[in-house]
Amino acid sequence: MKTKPMPGVEVKEIPRPTPASDEVLIKVRSAAICGSDLGIYHYTSAYSKMKLPVVLGHEFSGEIVETGSKVMGFKKGDRVLSESVKACGVCEFCKTGMSNLCDASTLFGIHTDGGFAEYINVPYKLLHRIPDSMTYDQAALVEPLSNAVHFVRDITPFKIDDYVVVQGCGPIGLFSAQLFKLGGARVLVTGLSVDKLRFEIAEKLGLETLNIETESLEDRVMKDTGGRGADIAFVAVGAPPAVKQATQIIKKRGLVTVVGIFGKEVPLDMTWVVRRELMIQGAYDAKPVNFPQSIDLINRGLVDVDSVLTHKLSLDEAELGFKIAIEKTGGKIVFNPN
Ligand SMILES: [Zn+2]
Ligand SMILES: [Zn+2]
Repeated sequence: MKTKPMPGVEVKEIPRPTPASDEVLIKVRSAAICGSDLGIYHYTSAYSKMKLPVVLGHEFSGEIVETGSKVMGFKKGDRVLSESVKACGVCEFCKTGMSNLCDASTLFGIHTDGGFAEYINVPYKLLHRIPDSMTYDQAALVEPLSNAVHFVRDITPFKIDDYVVVQGCGPIGLFSAQLFKLGGARVLVTGLSVDKLRFEIAEKLGLETLNIETESLEDRVMKDTGGRGADIAFVAVGAPPAVKQATQIIKKRGLVTVVGIFGKEVPLDMTWVVRRELMIQGAYDAKPVNFPQSIDLINRGLVDVDSVLTHKLSLDEAELGFKIAIEKTGGKIVFNPN
């Protein structure tokens, strides 16, 4: 949990929660560390308004052990995963299936206790059943994959012969790159020297890679596209220079989708953007409909989440898990509390 308004996390004993009438109590089997958890760990400005103490973790799966009196459709023993956004259900965005943009949402692991615990309370309306063929670890990765599905499928229009540069080879970059490739695009994944292991995962997934510290990304893209530029740049990293670089490697009227969360403002040459009629758009979180889509993609073997999962730890190893994630020496890291 996060207990103090400063960098770090703490492992503590807390009472087992009791579900409200519309909630189930889940025995957590797997819960994954997200890039946003690292922002919370570092206590960056994007998260400094959090109410503490709070248990972190919004990517989790488990087994229902108790149900509130008003719960419908789920029972004790069901294997489930949860959406991460507790939305109001009545605003314009919720009413149109975009609860990721809800005016009054709360998030597990930020506003209310999350999944890095033995037990968690979850409103039953956020639950999705896990197919028998799917492991709890795979199920915990449905939430981040749902984000990637939203970013790629809903937000980024691309064609089967497009050239797409995915900047950043963290889990969201690796999931998104797989989705672009699945849609027929040629995909180049970029990273830094520190991303050695992540490059290995990308190559195992059949993706082209480029280390921007040792090679020129612009030269490579211009060479591959005959000087035209990439159709799409997808910024899956929170480093401000990546956005400017994205605008420099795409074609005229090209598209930049930005999904990273930035600790500071991002400098851009707007005249360059104007004169080349570039498009820059943000993409955030996932819509409820992206969850069954992601479950289906994993279940049909179309997206490989197993290769991206590199570490399985106990909750007592929380510090180690965050260390690996911060140092980028792993892919996706999960805790297995039970
Ligand atoms: Zn996440
Ligand atoms: Zn809402």
